[in-house]
Amino acid sequence: MTGRRRHRDPPDPEPEYVPGTLLDWTNRDEHWSWEERSCRYCGGPTNLRDSKRKPAHKVCAEEALTRQAAEAAEAYQIGNTK
Ligand SMILES: [Zn+2]
Repeated sequence: MTGRRRHRDPPDPEPEYVPGTLLDWTNRDEHWSWEERSCRYCGGPTNLRDSKRKPAHKVCAEEALTRQAAEAAEAYQIGNTK
C-alpha cells in the first residue's frame, strides 16, 4: 500500500444512506436497557433495543431495514414484470 497516492484516487461513490441517520432511537425509554445483551444481527454486546425490544445495534437494525426494503422492492418488481 506504500506509494499509493490518495489524492489521485477517484472520489468515493455516494453512500446510499449514512449509518446512524435512518432510525430515530432518541427515545431511550424504548431503545435503551441497562442490561447488555447480544445483538440479534451481529452478536456483539449492546444496550440498545430495536422497536420490538430485541437487542440490536442501531446500525445493524438500519442495515437490516435497508436490506428488507431492497428485497421488498425487488419482490414488488418481480411481481409486476408481467
Ligand atoms: Zn450489531
